[in-house]
Amino acid sequence: MSSSREAKRLLIIGGVAAGMSAASRARRLDPDLEIVAYERTGYVSYGSCGLPYLIAGVVREAADLVARTPEQFARQGIETRTNHEVTAIDTSNKTVEVKDLTEGSEFSTGYDKLVIATGGSPIRPPMPGIKLEGVFVLRTVEDGIAVNRFLAEERPRRAVIIGSGYIGVEVAEAFVQRGLQTTMLDMLPQVLDNFDADIAQLMQSELERNGVIVSVDDTAQGIEGDTAGRVRAVVSARGRYEADLVLIGAGVAAESLLAQEAGIRLGTKGAIAVDEGMRTNVPGVYAAGDCAETYHLLLKGPSYVPLGSTANKQGRVAGTNAGGGEGTFGGVVGTAITKAFELGVGVTGLTEKAAVQLGRAARSVSIEHGSRAHYYPGPGPIRVKLVWDPADGMLLGAQIAGPVAEAKRIDVLATALHHGLTIEDLQRLDLSYAPPFSPVWDPILVAANVAAKN
Ligand code: FAD
Repeated sequence: MSSSREAKRLLIIGGVAAGMSAASRARRLDPDLEIVAYERTGYVSYGSCGLPYLIAGVVREAADLVARTPEQFARQGIETRTNHEVTAIDTSNKTVEVKDLTEGSEFSTGYDKLVIATGGSPIRPPMPGIKLEGVFVLRTVEDGIAVNRFLAEERPRRAVIIGSGYIGVEVAEAFVQRGLQTTMLDMLPQVLDNFDADIAQLMQSELERNGVIVSVDDTAQGIEGDTAGRVRAVVSARGRYEADLVLIGAGVAAESLLAQEAGIRLGTKGAIAVDEGMRTNVPGVYAAGDCAETYHLLLKGPSYVPLGSTANKQGRVAGTNAGGGEGTFGGVVGTAITKAFELGVGVTGLTEKAAVQLGRAARSVSIEHGSRAHYYPGPGPIRVKLVWDPADGMLLGAQIAGPVAEAKRIDVLATALHHGLTIEDLQRLDLSYAPPFSPVWDPILVAANVAAKN
């Protein structure tokens, strides 16, 4: 394909975190590379993570979620084609089939290198009524605009959120701020399944304190509509919840069908299998972000952790290698953070629950401690939970819950995990202190000291 052209051609499928990181990085490494990104929606380089805050009104306009516009990319020599969907990949001939969603036309175009960055799709549980008017998922800018338009035009009063992961929790806060009576259902016995139950309970209490009705261990079975096809209620194992608006936040699945149909190997949870350079099994084809696997440093193997923090890094590595450089992705320890109302929660590594499920010997402590010197006015105490291996004292994971900004302390513990620190190492960390920032013994050190006695 490339022999007839002078400049080599990098095609990117999906123009958000991973795709546009790859494009920018490849451009920096190779000024002569022709780079074209195809994006199915009308936007590129948007921050899906800001969608709950667009609904809440904290972000004023959808356009504010866009980090860089097509015009800005064009000035970098990166062509972005929005409203263009790649419908097939032919890895033998190095071509892709593209559908122009505005014109309806289709064409075929060639590549020398290909980055697949198709992301992850919201899981829509198969249940009656899932297609009714007033039922939403949240992934794209268009999804956020659709929810906001519905709120403005239909003036719903009651919302039901199916799923209590971080998107559900963040949207619950947004709905309450928009004046909706909000109910959250989850089939699991706790909210925020990637946290231990004791920390998740703090989030459930915070949601309830702010008027959200939370029903866990309660599977949504169907959505009822009226004769006009509009949502009216969610029926669950435990009851029937009236609703004018339903948001499905039931998790994300790798959007990997396009790759699979092209013979590209899939791995964990249907995500595209990649090596540390984000290379797929097909030479010249890379995958990054929510459509791809992630190497987990603690599990010492591939996992599926679809997060924006990872998508950007993986995209950068894919772009480095596609642009002729050499890059490797360092792996994750499963660090995540979220908030609702006044409570922030962070997690890194293995929860106690996950460690037990993996058959690992694990011990834990959970402490509550002031986040400032006792005489200094502050936002209140924080909870730190540490999980470690009793055989060698190695830290396995940690969770923090407390006033919103304090949860970011989880990054100290993520750094500790990245470097394989033990509880004893944690005790010795030289963490900063001044009364407006922390007590003289930082809560992380207090937790490590308590852990060392166990
Ligand atoms: P995506 O962002 O999914 O982008 C992939 C793009 O590819 C999509 O725009 C899609 O339209 C396009 N595409 C797919 N198939 C094709 C095709 N065949 N042809 C053309 N285009 C195609 N992560 C965090 O780390 N922190 C957070 O706080 C956080 N909050 C979030 C809140 C919400 C509401 C959501 C939805 C996600 C949040 N995330 C968060 C996750 C984060 O947004 C994703 O991990 C990140 O966007 C993944 O980037 P990506 O580029 O891999 O995929």
